[in-house]
Amino acid sequence: MNPFGSSDNVTIDGTAVKLPVAIGNPAALSPSATFQKPNWMPDTEADSCLNCDIKFSQFRRKHHCRNCGKIFCSKCCLEKIPLPHFGINEPEKVCKNCKLIVELMNKAKSSDMDQKYEAVIGLSSLLKNSAGLSKVIECGGINTILSMAINGNNKIKSAVASAVHCLAQSMMLNSFLVEAGCLKVLKNFLSSECNCTELLSDSLSALNLLCMDSDIRIEVLKEGMIEALLNVVVSSSGITSVFASRVLQLLVCNFEYHDFILQNHRRIIPELFAALLNEDYQLQACITKILMHFSAGSVPFREMIIQEDVSRDFPLLFLLKGSSQGVLVHVACIVANLAVSVNQNYVHHYITGMCELLTFANQENEELLAQIGRGLANFAESPSSSLHMIHHLPTIISNLLKSSFEVPKVHACRIVVYLFSSELPSALDILSQSGLDEFIETVFDLPGLTDILNGLFLRKVSRLSVCQK
Ligand SMILES: [Zn+2]
Ligand SMILES: [Zn+2]
Repeated sequence: MNPFGSSDNVTIDGTAVKLPVAIGNPAALSPSATFQKPNWMPDTEADSCLNCDIKFSQFRRKHHCRNCGKIFCSKCCLEKIPLPHFGINEPEKVCKNCKLIVELMNKAKSSDMDQKYEAVIGLSSLLKNSAGLSKVIECGGINTILSMAINGNNKIKSAVASAVHCLAQSMMLNSFLVEAGCLKVLKNFLSSECNCTELLSDSLSALNLLCMDSDIRIEVLKEGMIEALLNVVVSSSGITSVFASRVLQLLVCNFEYHDFILQNHRRIIPELFAALLNEDYQLQACITKILMHFSAGSVPFREMIIQEDVSRDFPLLFLLKGSSQGVLVHVACIVANLAVSVNQNYVHHYITGMCELLTFANQENEELLAQIGRGLANFAESPSSSLHMIHHLPTIISNLLKSSFEVPKVHACRIVVYLFSSELPSALDILSQSGLDEFIETVFDLPGLTDILNGLFLRKVSRLSVCQK
């Protein structure tokens, strides 16, 4: 079992690369971690030098590189260097290919920050091609890069962030990176006071790539990344803040993780509302999208959102009065979801807000009309809302029932039907003045309606009978 990875190999460009196996059981990110040496290639497997291809003979003997275990001629396996990553501090023979990486691994162990920086930059540059990447992985170089983040200076941290961003682009390394401690490193970068834009943007890009894998999202949540991301959303500005909220959005889109978030990050809803005060439309669009996911999830989240909105004097309704089309759609969707759980004391505020939005909503924006319709219909479902809703029926008829799109029309019919149950005379009166045709047309378009009606009629009368007279 590999303590730094659940599998023993990764495949890079079709070739299996052995993951480093740590000796003992060091904590991830331990700078003193040492790894098992690779097995020596059997003598029988090479009859010529693996570097210069010269044939071996009685006079030209085979030499094993102590770093990669492969076989070379004496000229290609000449230099002796300590191999600290394998716990070897005496100089040992290494091949020409391994020399560079071994020198870098030595520099990484140095206490001198300039040497360390050279090591991160050098190792990072090797990651860009598959041969270099394989070699860095096998020597435990990824673990070394990550471990330098912890006590490194800002220059080193930025270089590590850039390397992690580069590594996260190969999806097959994701689990290995996570088990090697890269989430701790990214959290540390995102929570740091250092306002270096590059450090933040590389960390966010890496995290964004890792979060594409839904199995890794739960690991990211367990690492406590929500707080770190909220920290960036609130304390940064412009594109960085927007980017952090996009990553946050990826973390909340799985409903099955909402319970975990509820138990561990109860401050998330108040913090999101605080971020809504920012007037950047892009940021508002991201934050409202996150709230949209929560509002579609469990009852406790809907209740928390309502409580926060009410206590802050309805910022959601304020956004409905004028925002970008994207934000309007998100907020209408949130309110429509909240309608399922909203306390009767606040219903009229939301109904009024949605109806006012309906009066100026772009009639070409199908999604917006559909969300407003869904929300009002969800509110109308509760009989006590009818009183607030009936005044708005003319607007609902002209802007939803007479819309050219199907979904808003159907929601308008839902509203009318709910109003029938408690406000029948007024609802019929308003409907007959302006929307009866559209109502009948939409209702009779519903599949199976005639069968249902027939079934209802048959409850009053029967199909078979015998005349009494
Ligand atoms: Zn050679
Ligand atoms: Zn070698």
